Amino acid sequence: MRSKVVVGNWKLNGSLAGNEQLLKQLLADIPKGGPATCAVCVPYAYLAQARDVLKGSAIGWGSQDCSRFEKGAYTGDVSAKMVAEFGSRHAIVGHSERRTVFGDTDAHVAEKYSQAKRAGLTPIFCVGETLEEREKGSTEAVLARQVDALLAKDSLDGGIVAYEPVWAIGTGKTATSAQAQEAHAFIRGRIAAKAKDVAARLPILYGGSVKAANAAELFAMPDVDGGLIGGASLVAEEFVSIWRAAGGTSKG
Ligand code: PEP
Repeated sequence: MRSKVVVGNWKLNGSLAGNEQLLKQLLADIPKGGPATCAVCVPYAYLAQARDVLKGSAIGWGSQDCSRFEKGAYTGDVSAKMVAEFGSRHAIVGHSERRTVFGDTDAHVAEKYSQAKRAGLTPIFCVGETLEEREKGSTEAVLARQVDALLAKDSLDGGIVAYEPVWAIGTGKTATSAQAQEAHAFIRGRIAAKAKDVAARLPILYGGSVKAANAAELFAMPDVDGGLIGGASLVAEEFVSIWRAAGGTSKG
């Protein structure tokens, strides 16, 4: 039995004052021992703040990327080890915005995943097709390529996968629960062909315009183990409602 996981992806948003308010609201509503795991992935610059506000709470924190290198002459990069030094639990790797805007290839993503794992983080490995790919009928081929590239270099044991159809990210268009289930089952099956036990216990999160209004329906699907939440993670009430839809109980 897999328990649910809800992770916020703040992207390039936040300020010291605004974060403090948001994190304190989350702390007030997300108790320890709830049935759903909760975390926020913040800009690197706010990892120390997340640690200071959240330490000892039910809410984990982490980064939205990490370097594919361990250390050295890579100006501007931040290593997984550095992220881990802030008590982080997660690093997202392979987010579609990193793939499209910053040119991360499948091979880079696999390297980042391994760096995160080696640093003791739980990587959140993102996969997903574009609208064009879906319309061409190549969704499964894209997912297979992305998953296989990771499995060629590392195991998904101990990691998390996030299925994020690119056409649903930040667009307000959510995959239907049936579309999400179909993609999640495909991903799990692809991994199971290589490692059945790993696939059975692997959390696969859905990401793409999840809101309080659609979370429960998505999370009710048998292969949807929670969500990676972008825009809605910046609004405390929305994020808490999504966490509750994943089975979280409220303090209040
Ligand atoms: C994301 O960026 O991972 C995401 C799912 O964004 P949104 O929820 O805003 O679509």
